[in-house]
Amino acid sequence: MTEFELIYRYFDQQKAALDQANAVDSVAVVKGLGDDAAVIAINAGSQLVSCVDTLVQGRHFSEDWSQVEALAFAIGFKSVAVNVSDLAAMGATPHHILLALALPERLATETWLSEFAKGLFHACSQFGVQLIGGDTTRNDKLVISITAQGFIANKKHNSQSPIYRNGAKVGDKVYVSGTVGDACYALHHPDDEIGRQLSHRLHMPMPRVKLGQALAQQGGATAMIDVSDGLVQDLGHICQQSGVRIRLNIDTLPTSTPLQQVALTERLHCQLTGGDDYELAFTLPAGISPPDSYGNADTANTKITCIGEVIDSCSAKDLPVIELTYQDSAVTDATPYPFSKMPHLQGFQHFN
Ligand code: ADP
Ligand code: MG
Repeated sequence: MTEFELIYRYFDQQKAALDQANAVDSVAVVKGLGDDAAVIAINAGSQLVSCVDTLVQGRHFSEDWSQVEALAFAIGFKSVAVNVSDLAAMGATPHHILLALALPERLATETWLSEFAKGLFHACSQFGVQLIGGDTTRNDKLVISITAQGFIANKKHNSQSPIYRNGAKVGDKVYVSGTVGDACYALHHPDDEIGRQLSHRLHMPMPRVKLGQALAQQGGATAMIDVSDGLVQDLGHICQQSGVRIRLNIDTLPTSTPLQQVALTERLHCQLTGGDDYELAFTLPAGISPPDSYGNADTANTKITCIGEVIDSCSAKDLPVIELTYQDSAVTDATPYPFSKMPHLQGFQHFN
């Protein structure tokens, strides 16, 4: 059973949840399980957006104690950032977080905790969230689970509204923010020069909150997701939920200067399947341009690149949902160029 089969088989009780929540006054579940975050209508004008993500020692960061100790600040920062990224993927404005910490005895020290807290609050101030509560327990390994909530206006009252994964239409252009593949390269090459230059992309990801908000405000975006588990896999979620296929032009993938020095096929592999980018991928109708001015000093330079288009509609069984092209030629099993053989395009999954 894959991670996603597991989730949808046992936990997708959206209908029951909707009926129950709709019974409580005007509070209604607008979007349950299946998107980057859930959406609750809290009053006529605004909606509450909620998500939770867990970081586990040995899975999301090194098992190795000396690494966990050295990275205390970054682990604090990243555990907030990855959650804020899911709020950004809805177009929401982050507001607060709750922190559940399962802490090993050997990290319950002044040194580790003060660095972890510094990183956590650095992210809180950068992304405008307050820590409003949580839970602390002891555990053999470090496990950090953060619930993040934010707000977004209700469409009836404002042009702004959440951007889901399910609205992509044939003819839409596909965009991604920033650059992709950097974190994956840094993860696999911690000791080479390029890996070192890219290590901040792995350890200190910058969720594209301002871009998400600008897209929600501008209107027109038909689908959006944050790229956390690999570009092809995450675009695949948009395809599955929108019932469409996407053509991805892999020679247009935005590539950071350090990553440009890496051999083409290794670089593309990182860009197509590597996790931890925390960029936003979204679709816009051909006539609508992405916002060109948004953000502040931290985000103003986030470039946006058109990487493909929505080519046709399809049912869940039509595979593959993502078609790759390189220099206008289809990349297939029979013609895998620039690869010597067609790469395995699945991104990160906890269960397979
Ligand atoms: P993301 O990568 O954006 O964090 P995931 O791929 O982890 O999203 O999850 C996909 C969807 O499944 C999300 O809407 C998430 O809320 C939901 N989900 C994941 N695990 C569970 C669970 N154990 N119970 C209920 N919903 C879950
Ligand atoms: Mg997400």
